[in-house]
Amino acid sequence: MKYFSLLQSFTLAAALLCGAAHAQAPAATPSAPPQVGFSIIKTGKVSVAERLLVPDGSLSKKIDTNFSAFLIKHKNDYLLFDTGLGANIETQYAQDMPYWARLAFKFEKPVVPVRKQLDAAGFAPIQKVIISHGHWDHASGVPDFPEAEIFAAEEEMHSIKHAESGAATAWPSQVATPGTRWSPLVLQPIAHKGYAQSLDLFNDGSVVLVAMPGHTEGSIGMFVTVDSGKCYFFIGDVAWKSAAIQAGAPKFWAASMVVDRNREQTLRSVEQVRDVARKYPDLVVVPAHDAAVQDALGYFPAWVR
Ligand SMILES: [Zn+2]
Repeated sequence: MKYFSLLQSFTLAAALLCGAAHAQAPAATPSAPPQVGFSIIKTGKVSVAERLLVPDGSLSKKIDTNFSAFLIKHKNDYLLFDTGLGANIETQYAQDMPYWARLAFKFEKPVVPVRKQLDAAGFAPIQKVIISHGHWDHASGVPDFPEAEIFAAEEEMHSIKHAESGAATAWPSQVATPGTRWSPLVLQPIAHKGYAQSLDLFNDGSVVLVAMPGHTEGSIGMFVTVDSGKCYFFIGDVAWKSAAIQAGAPKFWAASMVVDRNREQTLRSVEQVRDVARKYPDLVVVPAHDAAVQDALGYFPAWVR
């Protein structure tokens, strides 16, 4: 966490400098990037039977599920939360997705990797990448950011260090690339919105990680409060659809059996999201794959501010 401490000092210094220059600063225009905001970078999608994503959903109706990454802007810092599908997804999939799982877990072409989208838009290489958990559809883009420090919860590092092929594992082709700089995130015993453990990345309450174990041992979620004051809760794969959370329903049992490391613990994490959503009715819950929620918020290069 030394890294973030340094970052915090830097942020504080930058804030002081900005404060000094404030009198001359022009008013922000609607097109200027936000101080704190985010942009959803969709890298690909797959359409699947609704029933897989929504309990009691139709077996014949197909709905989209997104593979997205989330670009978070905090003043002069950018970080990526999850990486979606990366430049090497086809090779990774061929190498590490077991044949038995290929019918259920797939993606459609084209894939437009985050790195490609950021480079095309003229962004400097991202220096910080945080993954919600180590699964294939979240860590695929990790090798595309060799300049970055890659963060995952301390509890997730065991499965990352012991990467193996599988439907719900961290893949060697994604997380074991030589030179990848992994750093464990140690959440603190500081309560945040009902969560017992949290990590306030910039010490100002605007970007806060919380522990959401169950889907994997070290699954984490992230609260981001943007310029408007509105708060968004990125919950990774605790649930695949926001509608499922509102209904208090778990994933389709068969899907959950395959993907959730601990089903009971996942259900408790779902219940906790429900609680926080009830307590903070303005909160927007953003599951990593929920195309309906993400369509409504818009995509990169547009900012949610
Ligand atoms: Zn996922």
